[in-house]
Amino acid sequence: RRADALASGRGPGVTRDGHPVALLANIGGVQDAEAAGGLDLEGVGLFRTEFVFLSADRAPTVEEQAEIYRQVFRPFGDRRVVVRTLDAGADKPLAFADLGPEENPALGRRGLRLSAERPELLDAQLEALAVAAKDTGADVRVMAPMVATVEEAAWFARRVRENGLPKAGVMIEVPGAALRSAHVLAEVDFGSLGTNDLAQYTMAADRMQGALSDLLDPWQPAVLDVVAAACDGARTTGRPMGVCGESAGDPLLALVLTGLGVSSLSMAPSKVPVVRLALSLHTLPECQALAAAARTAATAREALETVRAAARSEL
Ligand code: PEP
Ligand code: MG
Repeated sequence: RRADALASGRGPGVTRDGHPVALLANIGGVQDAEAAGGLDLEGVGLFRTEFVFLSADRAPTVEEQAEIYRQVFRPFGDRRVVVRTLDAGADKPLAFADLGPEENPALGRRGLRLSAERPELLDAQLEALAVAAKDTGADVRVMAPMVATVEEAAWFARRVRENGLPKAGVMIEVPGAALRSAHVLAEVDFGSLGTNDLAQYTMAADRMQGALSDLLDPWQPAVLDVVAAACDGARTTGRPMGVCGESAGDPLLALVLTGLGVSSLSMAPSKVPVVRLALSLHTLPECQALAAAARTAATAREALETVRAAARSEL
């Protein structure tokens, strides 16, 4: 029955009572884009641009970048493509954007912090993205990684607009930004929760350490509370909030996230059918009840088991 339901599901993400939740792909380059572009999904919610340049030994030129971005955008036609500017540093070192060794790389000069120290790299990337967006007609939206403050969001948004790109967003993956999301999102057009880093920083557990995986579990009630606070802030400010961490591809967690108020879920493309099915079996009020139940749990395991028991059994 589950296999039939999975196979028959098509079209945009929507709850049983008609509430839309966009289903998007996480991609890391041209090959991923070509594969995902042919699938039944609504676009890209996270293009991790640093993946393209992991082996580059010098900074790519504007034209070199523009050519890659054109190839990434084309398979999506007029669908949305959310591009994250270089998230270099920590677990993703780039040879041409290396500020030297750090004692605590995950807490160091990574993501937008590195862009602030090397603004010429950010400007070249934004220029290339603007060229490729114009050449392809794609619905390109640009977001910054590792934003912690209102000032950082405002600085990024100004640079995005100066480069003629229409939409600026921020990843919400630092608890400080999540708790203050109403103020942070007031500076930009949208937010996207990075639950991988948000769990790492909320639980003070290095995501590179497999031995800490229980702490990094996005079902941790503290992580759900921080996500809920971020969604409340987005609602206050009237900005859409998505999720692009791995949690978006867990069908039960996708229901909880929908109940908390997110309007898009971006995941490994292979996860889209099961998340679409999960949404189609539940109404928005049911998702809200699942979210409330998860947040009353004392432990991650209890949150998961509570939602599993209350959700439709096909999942
Ligand atoms: C995240 O932190 O959840 C995220 C989507 O970004 P990355 O995994 O690339 O850090
Ligand atoms: Mg991240």
